[in-house]
Amino acid sequence: PVTRTPDIQDARLKLPVVAEEQRLMEAIYNNHIVVICGATGSGKTTQVPQFLFEAGYGSVGSDTPGMIGVTQPRRVAAVSMSKRVGDELGDHGHKVAYQIRFEGTTNPDTAVKFMTDGVLLREVAEDLALRKYSAIIIDEAHERSVNTDILIGMLSRVIKLRTELAQEDPKLKPLKLIIMSATLRVEDLTMNSRLFENPPPVIEVEGRQHPVTVHFARRTTSDYVEEAFRKISRGHKKLPPGGFLVFLTGRNEITQLSKQLKAAFGGLKTAEAPRVRLTASEAPTEVEDIEFGDVDDGDADDMDSLPSEDEDEEADEDEFKIEDDQEAAPMKMQVLPLYSLLPTKDQLRVFEPPPEGTRQIILATNVAETSLTIPGTRYVFDCGRAKERQYDPVTGVQSFEVGWISKASASQRSGRAGRTGPGHCYRLYSSAVYERDFQQYADPELLRMPLEGVALQLKAMNLTHVVNFPFPTPPDRRILARSEKVLHYLSAISTTGRVTEVGTAMSVFPLAPRFARILLVGHMHGCIHYTIAMVAALSAQELFLPDNQAVPALAESTTEFRSNSDIIAETKQAEMRKRFNEVHKNFCYLDDRADAIKLLQVVGEFAHEPFEAWCDNHFVRFKVLKEIQQLRRQITDLLRNNIDGFGNLRFEDKLDPPMPKQVAALKQMAAAGFIDQVAIRGDLAPTPPETHRPPRRPIDVPYLPLTPLVEADEADRCVYIHPSSPMSHLSVQECPQFIVYSHLQKATQSANVDKKPKTRMHALTDIT
Ligand code: ADP
Ligand code: MG
Repeated sequence: PVTRTPDIQDARLKLPVVAEEQRLMEAIYNNHIVVICGATGSGKTTQVPQFLFEAGYGSVGSDTPGMIGVTQPRRVAAVSMSKRVGDELGDHGHKVAYQIRFEGTTNPDTAVKFMTDGVLLREVAEDLALRKYSAIIIDEAHERSVNTDILIGMLSRVIKLRTELAQEDPKLKPLKLIIMSATLRVEDLTMNSRLFENPPPVIEVEGRQHPVTVHFARRTTSDYVEEAFRKISRGHKKLPPGGFLVFLTGRNEITQLSKQLKAAFGGLKTAEAPRVRLTASEAPTEVEDIEFGDVDDGDADDMDSLPSEDEDEEADEDEFKIEDDQEAAPMKMQVLPLYSLLPTKDQLRVFEPPPEGTRQIILATNVAETSLTIPGTRYVFDCGRAKERQYDPVTGVQSFEVGWISKASASQRSGRAGRTGPGHCYRLYSSAVYERDFQQYADPELLRMPLEGVALQLKAMNLTHVVNFPFPTPPDRRILARSEKVLHYLSAISTTGRVTEVGTAMSVFPLAPRFARILLVGHMHGCIHYTIAMVAALSAQELFLPDNQAVPALAESTTEFRSNSDIIAETKQAEMRKRFNEVHKNFCYLDDRADAIKLLQVVGEFAHEPFEAWCDNHFVRFKVLKEIQQLRRQITDLLRNNIDGFGNLRFEDKLDPPMPKQVAALKQMAAAGFIDQVAIRGDLAPTPPETHRPPRRPIDVPYLPLTPLVEADEADRCVYIHPSSPMSHLSVQECPQFIVYSHLQKATQSANVDKKPKTRMHALTDIT
């Protein structure tokens, strides 16, 4: 029996899921697989694990002593939900733990384990029967992240295996699988006989939703950050108390808007942030963390002309005329960002109530769309866009584009306003755009990305014919074929598609197959420690602060800067920029044309001074470097324990700079993992592209990929150096003949901009 505090008890009784406890537990008792659909806020994540716990799952001495595993697509959710369920479980709270990639609180007492779906995937690879668990809950299945989809496919087999094993060994009970979704779109799971032979029962739980009034904008502007600023500013003055939750697409936008709001309304610092231990994160980086290069592609004109101030005011008068329309009392404003690269202690600040008389304004990415409950939110401002991964199955070009969300997402977002009482959602787009451009549901992520990593993992588990894997939605065969080609060229699979010894070795590492391959050839010229550091760094995203952000961010931390005159401020800014350029130049002192070597240098220097202050002074992210450090350690251990010839390998944290011979070797190795991704300088190519005028900047020099991009437009055949690459500082003449790139990226800054952006190479190294 669980003893809960009276207010927790009261709150639980109001949740729709709690009313369904009996029906749900009966379904789970009678079926191995159960699907639960319930609107966000109905109590799925917090309550269902507790039902299982109270029914004896995860309890020593019961019939089902194995743990209850709960997966989340996002790190913040795994950490914060474990905390919440721990609190709700009162005297059993210590039995709830979380595990994310490098960090966890599990111990032998753990009965309920929250984890990212990536963590559970690794565990399935280690034990296909998942003997440690008696029940698995896959949460947020509607998000259809790659890991979720793969997990569901895997678990359909795990369940069968466990049922067979249980017949031989009565001590081992069958495994229960509960799939939870915030939407009703679950036919991919239930009506998919390859996945589940018999359709699992679907338990629908009604939502508990207060009415939310949706306001569409009269027109859609492409500068939605500016538009958000305008709407929030006016809304803050006019609307009755209640928190604002603002959906944007990424960190840059959040920082920009946060500064604007603080400048206009005065920021307010909160008291001590809650302490939760969390230092590392799950790879890969969540998509919304990926920022576009700051490329000057010319002016991106709005499609629509800007409205006049008056027109706007008039529109706002309509929208903000709410309830009995008395003007809201003037309030202070507390602006809090929420995105996954933010240090976790800062992320968790959104759960704290704001000070008396203050309006909390949370600027969030998709993180806040479903999994997290942010108390006090009454007004949602939705830009209607999200950063999404796109992938061209033919050319293999990956892009992270800002695009329209789905109607389902828009409805999730507006629903966030109706959690505690009636609310309002201000959509920064018109109903015409919504009707015309919004898909009903977003495509599963699995259909939008390269799959060599997934294919290798499956093959390493002897699922040779990846097409036969029970994907909830099968991926494009061309993408699968492409991934087989890459794996074959990396020697990870044989001509018949079977995993080779090399491939098995590669699959041990939590790295993309290309990086794992580089690692396995990395011992030449005594390079192994450098190679480890290099692939760890290449696997990380967003190590560098962009200059547009680094400069004001530093300036802001000195209060003296703000109060002094503009002239001093400008001088400081110029100094900062100079320092930024110097720092970046110094990182390239070993080699001025290889991004890979520059990254290695950063990691090497950080190891000697692993402090936040050093990172601030060098315009790099502490959080990311800590993770790279942990990954280096992990890779070293995996090499020692799994790969012949590394039995004596010890982790070496502080390294001397590599010798020139080693730098050359490292560049060669990096190139070897990507030899199918080489581009030749346009004017030196057999059929040079047409150019209207000679390029003036290195980032305008056209290159042609040796595997041509199949695109209609002549101009689209070309790719260009990314401005973040050291090579962008060469002269046009110095631009190398050949460049190896890790991936191609095409960014559209806004869904409304007509102009086609350039495809840019994330360069690794030149080839000499
Ligand atoms: P679902 O998973 O169905 O979206 P949850 O179980 O996450 O729902 O949340 C159910 C309810 O529990 C929320 O609506 C909220 O009232 C409460 N709750 C959840 N997390 C918290 C929290 N961190 N702080 C306060 N209340 C919370
Ligand atoms: Mg939930």
